[in-house]
Amino acid sequence: MIVDVLVEVNVGNQNQMFSYTVSQELQSQIKKGIRVTVPFGTRKLEGFILDIHKDDTARDYDLKEIINVVDEHPVLNDELLDLGKHMSELYLAPLIHCYQTMLPVALKAKRKVKLNIKEEKYICLNKSEEEIKLYIEGNKSVLQNNILNTVLSLKKVRKKDIDNQNVLRTLLKKELLKEIREEKYRLDSNDIIKNETHELTPDQKHVVKSFLEGDKETYLLHGVTGSGKTEVYMNIIDNVIKEGKKAIVLVPEIALTVQLVTRFQNHFGNDVAILHSRLSAGEKYDEWRKIERDEVSIVIGARSAVFAPLSNIGVIIIDEEHEATYKQENSPRYHAYDISLFRAKRHKAKILLGSATPSLESYARAKIGYYGLLELKNRINGKDLPKVHIVDMKESIKKGHRLISSKLIEGIQERLEKKEQIMILLNRRGYSNYLICSDCGYAYKCPSCDITMTYHKTSDTLRCHYCGYADKRRIECPECHAKGLKDFGVGTEKIEEELNKMFDGIRIVRMDLDTTTTKGAHSKIIKDFNNYKYDLLLGTQMIAKGLDFGRVSLVGVINADMGLNIPDFRSSERTFQLLNQVSGRSGRKDIEGEVILQTFNNDHYVIENVKNHDYIGFYNNEIKIRKRLFYPPFCFISLVRILSSDYEYGFEVSKKIGIYLRKHLPNNTILGPTMSNIFKVKNIYRFGCLIKYKNKEEVAEVLKNVLKQYDNNNKIKIEIDMNTMRM
Ligand code: ADP
Ligand code: ZN
Repeated sequence: MIVDVLVEVNVGNQNQMFSYTVSQELQSQIKKGIRVTVPFGTRKLEGFILDIHKDDTARDYDLKEIINVVDEHPVLNDELLDLGKHMSELYLAPLIHCYQTMLPVALKAKRKVKLNIKEEKYICLNKSEEEIKLYIEGNKSVLQNNILNTVLSLKKVRKKDIDNQNVLRTLLKKELLKEIREEKYRLDSNDIIKNETHELTPDQKHVVKSFLEGDKETYLLHGVTGSGKTEVYMNIIDNVIKEGKKAIVLVPEIALTVQLVTRFQNHFGNDVAILHSRLSAGEKYDEWRKIERDEVSIVIGARSAVFAPLSNIGVIIIDEEHEATYKQENSPRYHAYDISLFRAKRHKAKILLGSATPSLESYARAKIGYYGLLELKNRINGKDLPKVHIVDMKESIKKGHRLISSKLIEGIQERLEKKEQIMILLNRRGYSNYLICSDCGYAYKCPSCDITMTYHKTSDTLRCHYCGYADKRRIECPECHAKGLKDFGVGTEKIEEELNKMFDGIRIVRMDLDTTTTKGAHSKIIKDFNNYKYDLLLGTQMIAKGLDFGRVSLVGVINADMGLNIPDFRSSERTFQLLNQVSGRSGRKDIEGEVILQTFNNDHYVIENVKNHDYIGFYNNEIKIRKRLFYPPFCFISLVRILSSDYEYGFEVSKKIGIYLRKHLPNNTILGPTMSNIFKVKNIYRFGCLIKYKNKEEVAEVLKNVLKQYDNNNKIKIEIDMNTMRM
């Protein structure tokens, strides 16, 4: 027997497999998709078996033998094996990366993670029921009989739930009862109770019916914030489960969607597995096992949950489908929607994309009928969407209010008096954005990245938000040595300080990357705010999505136009989405909601469309620009990124690649090479060539050759990002 094994090697053709022979005693354990350890040069590596040849007579050269078998059952089933090959083609990524990315850490090849399986002790009968009943009749000890009766009726009782451990010990010694141990899943909570559900509104019913009965593969649910999309998801899944099928629900980031997860758990109880990056390796492994063993019908998770090894999938739901987190930023640079499409075809399942602000691409597809379009135009309680006020900060500054306008101050004061809650968004963490020397104008940058350092007052440090480098705060300018470094710009820390100065006794909680590094920190902030332990929740874009607080009646945005100036063709779209989402947090239950946007661009169409909650208007404005400038959805756009620590060499190769692309793709638009927006990160220079095109196959072929020709030495690294989301 000969097997073909895929291992992780960083040289040459990364998709090449290596053949090994299998000793007689291991042959019975060999299956496709299991991991094995193999000798590789002087090393031992773990790899996946992708092919098995029973007949080995045709080979006449000496092959090495595999060392041992790691798994009893395949970690990659047939579907995942095929999916990996599809991904590798689609994203021009090494096959091994595709397989590794699908699996929880504990099941990846090569890296070994030690797992301590947690166990729970249970007590059950050690004799037949008749014998026990007879024993009870003749036994005078009430305490003993109580325990025996409990075990008789429940069959299995958690050991720690038995009150009198001394009496229990006696019964164990008499061999009437016995102790067993069972594997305990780390995330199981015992206090999940199934909850009643809402009767759907006629609009919601219509959406569910159209989805279930329609014949499209993908549907887009465009529903305003608070229109009851989550309720629709749950109802669709109820129906899917009734048919004996299963569901995957993708959310942008679990930590930010605690409330959604809780609603699912309340509705479906322990029929839900949760997969996301903040779980420990052990927890992830447990959840994966539950899925593999067919113990749950629903998987909720962030991007990588799309690989959950569920059998018989009926629906894949992608909530907040416009979010950039659905695209993985390192190899394989996959989008969860592409993977969903592959799996949906395989399982004959349907896909539901949901959003209040769909991506331009998705909405365009729905408009031409390629996706089915479902709409929820109103909020559940028939309430109007919150009124949005625009504050022109140019005017406000003239009146002496640089950071917080008088309109916002009044709004906050009013809510404090009425005991209502406030949310304030400022999409920048830290205290100030940059340090600039007031003598020579020098801007203090990270020594290894092309980016200004941010001052963090809480820790009194300067930090690079790209590589994490931190330094002590300084006043002396490294250029001219004057003591002239001053901080400019504003981050969440400064706003927190300002608010505390302005409002006596205000209870503020801040949620940004700096306050949520520890596990569970998100949920705690959300829970505490929900329980009115705070008046005001201040944060970055983390607070914009998915949260549902009934007491919030004012949402304020500092620097609403901050994202508009980023040089990326999606910057208007992202700004609209963010502002629309955060506005939707106001007035969700019984109290009327209000939104105050502070901006320097009050006549920008994005601000105007946010003011009117007008997604369609925004779409119509934006699509014209995309058409004129030839950007998605009118073409695909992919990026060839060239990375090198040697500036001259990197630029040379980039120019050659630019010429190569223009020569071989004469009918497409090639831009660059240019330097990336952030030109240097961790001392690596970044160049890029952008391709705008219509014919995917043609471009993929040419890009494969680019990799072959230029990605072949250690002075340069080439990354290909198909359908790039980040410029
Ligand atoms: P979305 O996901 O569109 O923002 P949600 O599903 O969170 O909207 O619904 C908003 C609020 O309305 C939630 O508090 C939810 O419990 C409630 N809700 C949703 N559907 C119904 C319904 N049919 N009847 C009563 N309340 C509902
Ligand atoms: Zn840096």
